[in-house]
Amino acid sequence: MTSLTDLTLADARDGLRAKKFSAAELARAHVDAMIAARPLNAFITETPVIAKAMADESDKRIARGDARPLEGLPLAIKDLFCTKGVRTTAASHILEPFVPTYESTVTQKLWDAGAVMLGKVNLDEFAMGSSNETSYFGPVENPWRKPGDNRSRVPGGSSGGSAAAVSARFALAATGTDTGGSIRQPAAFCGIVGIKPTYGRCSRWGIVAFASSLDQAGPMTRTVKDAAIMLRSMCGFDPKDSTSVDMAVPDFEKALTGNIKGLKVGIPEEYRIDGMPKEIESIWTKGAEWLKAAGAILKPVKLPLTKYALPTYYIVAPAECSSNLARYDGVRFGLREKGEDLTAMYEGTRGAGFGREVRRRILIGTYVLSAGYYDAYYLKAQRVRALIAADFANAFKEVDVLLAPTAPSSAFARGEKTADPIAMYLNDVFTVPASLAGLPGISVPAGLSADGLPLGLQLIGRAYDEETVLRTAGVLEQAAQFTARPQTWWKQ
Ligand code: GLN
Repeated sequence: MTSLTDLTLADARDGLRAKKFSAAELARAHVDAMIAARPLNAFITETPVIAKAMADESDKRIARGDARPLEGLPLAIKDLFCTKGVRTTAASHILEPFVPTYESTVTQKLWDAGAVMLGKVNLDEFAMGSSNETSYFGPVENPWRKPGDNRSRVPGGSSGGSAAAVSARFALAATGTDTGGSIRQPAAFCGIVGIKPTYGRCSRWGIVAFASSLDQAGPMTRTVKDAAIMLRSMCGFDPKDSTSVDMAVPDFEKALTGNIKGLKVGIPEEYRIDGMPKEIESIWTKGAEWLKAAGAILKPVKLPLTKYALPTYYIVAPAECSSNLARYDGVRFGLREKGEDLTAMYEGTRGAGFGREVRRRILIGTYVLSAGYYDAYYLKAQRVRALIAADFANAFKEVDVLLAPTAPSSAFARGEKTADPIAMYLNDVFTVPASLAGLPGISVPAGLSADGLPLGLQLIGRAYDEETVLRTAGVLEQAAQFTARPQTWWKQ
């Protein structure tokens, strides 16, 4: 039998119901794998005791014939989701001692569906980053390395711990959040699937806020089917989040028909950027050919404002973060430094509590929101954002889904872009436009680079049309036959 940690989420679900193994055994196998994988630094907090208790409860349910949709399936939770009674840090020193008294809606839904919590996984501090190097708890290692080269690669970010845990098989699936690419880019860097649903599909309640008009939760899994299964349990209307949409949640698994005959797939010309590595270009071409061979109709489309997406994002996101992070003042949550008076306490706490990247973003955000610059930067960026969304709306008059690369490179070496924030921000060039427009996007592993590292392809869909996105992703996955796996160097 395949080892329990090698199963897909779907197979584990079916195996549990067929009583081939117990939820306790499945949890134990994942806890052991999680402990063996400590060198990757994927977890900030491990919760093996909770995992055992939840798995035992699942076994009782299964014995009673009362299994829920995710009964007994062990998951890793990005440490941005508040978990009642379990420390939630957002990978920041300022929240290091924070234990929430409430559960995020998304994680509550997962537990209500029977899932088992393995622990809280590492991320870039407050989800700001593309490499998981800004975490106060240290960087996460990508399980993938270039064959014959033992230098560390970044797992992508900000959901780097989630991507590493799923790729290296110590969680069946993980939750991620995506503000400008943080589900899709790490999925691409670690050779797994990650979907950011339409803004409003998943409740943001209880997720530590970065940029509220962009933040969306989504699943990270090893297959498209697993993503569909997870997404169904994560989505749904929540009156506690005023931006949550009141729409029925489809059975996403049923959307995976494998049939895309006549589907119109747009190839956005503007995504063919200068200096794009050949191998990214060729995997993109290959992806288009696979879809065509499956009966899709390819169409070049124009998204003329694409080049403004990155600068727009890096005004809107820091503006919202500077406002959201104002609440960390040493009074209500987490860290408090001593000071002679209130101002000194605020300054001491925020100075000690936030890392460099978070401070940079707060400064940029405060600047673009300040009286003299608000119109020139923030308001202008909001207008451009609306035009970018209109670009997509126009494209979707002609096509059903868009195909593009997920990231402009494979996983880079640790430290390679740390000194140059602009180089780091450029990594988000293909993911940020869909975020600004609030559209669903998925990354599917499509092949390996010349260096033997995973490359992802991205599909972007119409608002609330995750079904077409998933269906097309399923076809890409089928054609790509991505069976490569990271070496297990950390076990030696
Ligand atoms: N890399 C982007 C940033 O640094 C996106 C992060 C995210 O999606 N959370 O802002």
